[in-house]
Amino acid sequence: MFAVDGFHVTAIEDRGGVIVLEVQTDPVTVGCPACGVLAEGRGRRLHRLADAPAFGLPVQVRWSKRLWRCIQGSSQLRV
Ligand SMILES: [Zn+2]
Repeated sequence: MFAVDGFHVTAIEDRGGVIVLEVQTDPVTVGCPACGVLAEGRGRRLHRLADAPAFGLPVQVRWSKRLWRCIQGSSQLRV
């Protein structure tokens, strides 16, 4: 089942014949690729991904992806 470095599974549910994995990335700091300053967290956005079936059931991965924004207004980058 889901095993990717930097991710951890926060919940596993059987939702009517579909196994749903809730995953998050580890809390790390992120630098802006344009200016190099540390970016600030801006909440999360849910991404739905399909994983290989497990136990004969389809698997859906729900990734609460962290959103980042550069604190330097000049680069206007979202990471
Ligand atoms: Zn920047």
